[in-house]
Amino acid sequence: MLLVVLEHDRGAMSEAAREALTFGRGLAAQMGGPLHAALIGADDDGLVAESGAYGAEAVYTVAHEVLADFGPEAWGQAVAELVGRLSPAAVLAGGSERGNEVMAQVAARLDVPFVANCTEVQPGGDADGGAWTMTRQQWGGSLLEDAKLASERPLLTCGLHAVSAVPAESVLTPSTETVELELDPSLARTMVKDRMVLEAGVTLSTAPVVVSGGRGVGSAEAFAPLEELAELLGGRVGCSRAVTNNGWRPHSDQVGQTGTRIAPEIYVATGISGAIQHWVGAKASKHILAINTDPQANMVVKANWAVIADLHEVIPAITEEIKRRRA
Ligand code: FAD
Repeated sequence: MLLVVLEHDRGAMSEAAREALTFGRGLAAQMGGPLHAALIGADDDGLVAESGAYGAEAVYTVAHEVLADFGPEAWGQAVAELVGRLSPAAVLAGGSERGNEVMAQVAARLDVPFVANCTEVQPGGDADGGAWTMTRQQWGGSLLEDAKLASERPLLTCGLHAVSAVPAESVLTPSTETVELELDPSLARTMVKDRMVLEAGVTLSTAPVVVSGGRGVGSAEAFAPLEELAELLGGRVGCSRAVTNNGWRPHSDQVGQTGTRIAPEIYVATGISGAIQHWVGAKASKHILAINTDPQANMVVKANWAVIADLHEVIPAITEEIKRRRA
């Protein structure tokens, strides 16, 4: 059995958890076993139903006062104890910051190795002495590394946006089991106590459309047409590091290795060359439209569509055309 640890925030499943279930479905099929899910600190019918929609046959819930909100130590201990009871063949979580933090806790508590941010995993077979092989992302995704793992119980996370979250072909109604655990109150010392929402509504990482500008935009003020287009499309403005380095936009708008990883339906990349450090944050976009004066720019070469022209003419023209068609 493959056990998937589901990330949620106060009962709302994260996209990373859906991706882990999608990735886990394929992995469980390769392992020839079922996909089960662990819900830590939540006993929620909606989460159970969503797990079934993504292919989980069974869901184990663990509720305890030290799990009242997210805490890496308490979650790590709960998963470690669950693993001891259920003896899954392998354990998988989403490669978010929380997913990786929890699995590192689990690995330390069980004293077994953990491989983070996998993009492909092959379960071990007799031919290779039982060792698992995997490709994993390093350096924010700008390097892919082949690895081999000899472990009786592989602990893994799948790289963020390594797969798109896709529900299973047939919806399952998972069996449910509540697992009672004795957890030490001291585990709650790193529990989330408060939250400060820095931005409301659509965020860069969840926006269906991202309109990004690079050095080619030229100035902070010249982002106004990008703002207008993004708003018209219900999206967000992003940017390259050249832009944040110049102080034209805040770092929270930066896409890339040292910025945000995005996965919109459409990424409009204007005046951006597409350096590898930018590309790793943008490559999970479903479709890319590049607007650039250089037909050889990496972003142009990799895009689904490209306009080779001055962005200062193209962006207002797109905006005008959308307005005209909607009028
Ligand atoms: P440039 O590379 O200068 O490209 C500008 C583009 O604009 C060119 O293709 C040009 O043809 C085009 N252009 C110019 N004028 C116009 C016009 N009028 N109309 C249309 N096109 C025009 N970068 C990131 O973006 N995100 C990161 O997270 C990130 N992390 C990094 C981490 C490290 C450790 C390092 C070393 C670098 C990192 N970088 C990152 C920087 C990255 O290497 C590039 O330097 C940066 O992405 C370049 O930004 P740019 O594409 O806007 O600028």
